[in-house]
Amino acid sequence: MAIRKIRELGDEVLTKKCKEVTKMTIRSRILINDMLDTMYEEGGVGLAAPQVGILKRIVVIDVGDGPIVLINPEIIEQSGEQTGEEGCLSVPGKAGTVTRPNYVKARGLNEDMEEIEVEGEELLARAICHEIDHLEGKMYVELVEDGLHDVEYREEE
Ligand code: ZN
Repeated sequence: MAIRKIRELGDEVLTKKCKEVTKMTIRSRILINDMLDTMYEEGGVGLAAPQVGILKRIVVIDVGDGPIVLINPEIIEQSGEQTGEEGCLSVPGKAGTVTRPNYVKARGLNEDMEEIEVEGEELLARAICHEIDHLEGKMYVELVEDGLHDVEYREEE
């Protein structure tokens, strides 16, 4: 169990496209555990590997219903629209309004490299989109509609 340092906006690693994971290794298992620990420690609802400086296509999400690990995730279905506040552990103390699909279904692998599908609405859909964007080197700040503003505490990742 270890907390990793979260890279912040302006760090080059957050702008890079991540690599597919082709096999599960001890290193990746440790990374996933550390990502979960780091997300919970920082009070986020999601974390992508590049946020801890690792360019692998791995994200972890927990919107309050238990941890989800998604490796090589891709969105296979989406519908509707939601506009709401979004934040990111890599942009501490800030939030902004972002429009996302209201429903998303994603396919990927779990930590045992078995194919899984995850679907969700509202916050979970938002978190899936946000984390997958990280794997493409994209930050939510590029999507913010009314500029970033300060928040007292972070509610979303
Ligand atoms: Zn983020």
